[in-house]
Amino acid sequence: VDEGVSSVYAAPGSRGAVAEYRTRYGHWIGGEYVDPVKGQWFENISPVNGKPFCEVGRGTSEDIDRAVDAAWKAFATWGKTSPTERSNMLLKIADRMEANLEKIAVAETWENGKPVRETLAADIPLAIDHFRYFAGVLRAQEGGISQLDEDTVAYHFQEPLGVVGQIIPWNFPILMAVWKLAPALAAGNCIVLKPAEQTPASILFLMDIIGDLIPAGVLNIVNGFGIEAGAPLASHKKIRKIAFTGETTTGRLIMQYASQNLIPVTLELGGKSPNVFFEDVARANDSFYDKALEGFSFFALNNGEVCTCPSRALIQKSVYDQLLGDGIERVRAIRQGNPLDPETMIGAQASNDQLEKILSYMDIGRQGGAKVLIGGERADLGGDLTDGYYVQPTIFEGTNDMRIFQEEIFGPVLSVTSFSDFDDAISIANDTLYGLGAGVWSRDMNTAYRAGRAIQAGRVWTNTYHQYPAHAAFGGYKQSGIGRENHLKMLDHYQQTKNLLVSYAEGPMGFF
Ligand code: NAD
Repeated sequence: VDEGVSSVYAAPGSRGAVAEYRTRYGHWIGGEYVDPVKGQWFENISPVNGKPFCEVGRGTSEDIDRAVDAAWKAFATWGKTSPTERSNMLLKIADRMEANLEKIAVAETWENGKPVRETLAADIPLAIDHFRYFAGVLRAQEGGISQLDEDTVAYHFQEPLGVVGQIIPWNFPILMAVWKLAPALAAGNCIVLKPAEQTPASILFLMDIIGDLIPAGVLNIVNGFGIEAGAPLASHKKIRKIAFTGETTTGRLIMQYASQNLIPVTLELGGKSPNVFFEDVARANDSFYDKALEGFSFFALNNGEVCTCPSRALIQKSVYDQLLGDGIERVRAIRQGNPLDPETMIGAQASNDQLEKILSYMDIGRQGGAKVLIGGERADLGGDLTDGYYVQPTIFEGTNDMRIFQEEIFGPVLSVTSFSDFDDAISIANDTLYGLGAGVWSRDMNTAYRAGRAIQAGRVWTNTYHQYPAHAAFGGYKQSGIGRENHLKMLDHYQQTKNLLVSYAEGPMGFF
């Protein structure tokens, strides 16, 4: 593996934060970088300027075998560590990440295109907190004892599963990895992780920072494409669980692979989340209204590449014109530019494919009869950024039966419609295959509570949006997924319960 450093990228104005990527990254297996077995590599392109900046190993089933073997070897020791030992390791990882926060944030921005103000203030701090949260809850876990009768006791132990597989998408390269890594490590498992082919390097960059804190083989990373590396991992005979985040269509395949080995699956899939604004929200010169307008414009946060993107705004008819007009002004004020500039609010889409997909949905929206209220085009930012993947934040007005209201676009594109009353709002909100996130805005807590309970989604934000604390359970209803992430409930997905049923009686059982 070439140990050279490819380039140095400084974030303009970000207090000198610099990220240095290697020119080449092998797979991270057994605590070191190894070349791919077949000797194939692929280019990694920065969406900021559309140019390649490093090469990454293109994994195949041979690399997955090697990683799974390394993980099982490590499990012999790791699986027997105490909660305190594992907790301490997670805390050390968190501290090391915190000490390198700016570097990691800049590296991820360079690879993904999202604004550095978000990676600095949200993505990476949330990832750090995730390690700390699981370090804490792990030590508070109790197995439980049931006294069956005077002489018989049932002891319950939480044991790790063994080696688990994890497959993640590109929209939060580090946070999506950490959502899976922290609970799996806390529970005592060893891991083979496959990052998305669009953003393979941020996690390897992170390994350069925290890799020495994790015993060799406990965490292994194999890069590559879905069919070549993801499928062999998800269908591997020696993994005991597969956790997946990505598209609903891929999630179906993952379940099929897992069924061959009858292993548990957790799936975090797509969404088309409604953001519902009741009439009492709109009031001139008012800070709550201002907050609601910010919530309205959150469809463009993370460049709209969020599974819970509030991509459908539902506004009550009586205040529709006012709220929509004010919302459009909010969106007009979103500053687009170089994502490495801390003033930038919307950066580049993560890949050229994603850019093309978003642009095609803009055509689909127009052809389907929706009206563009703002945006609707690719953004050319000029200079070095001309070839980067920039799209204008866009608002369409239409009806919920249109494709742009039903299909996940995964970009800064909002589809807006109106509703007449409470029941109408709930009916439109639930008229979707998905059930991941939702937003409800009302000053009337009865309305807000009832709407929150009536919307079929795993996470309903009330008078807020896009908050992802480690201690709130996250996951999908309907076709948005199976299982939950975050929260101590997550440990259940990475442990199995051992029941020791012990008789202390001296006499016979009395049947034979
Ligand atoms: P994707 O399904 O195309 O890819 C996700 C991962 O799966 C990648 O690592 C990819 O290489 C791998 N993969 C693809 N085909 C595979 C196969 N046949 N077998 C095994 N692995 C395979 O999704 P994406 O485009 O990278 O990510 C965007 C999607 O992720 C969106 O639908 C979004 O809503 C969803 N997402 C969901 C959540 C959530 O928590 N629910 C979070 C983030 C993203």
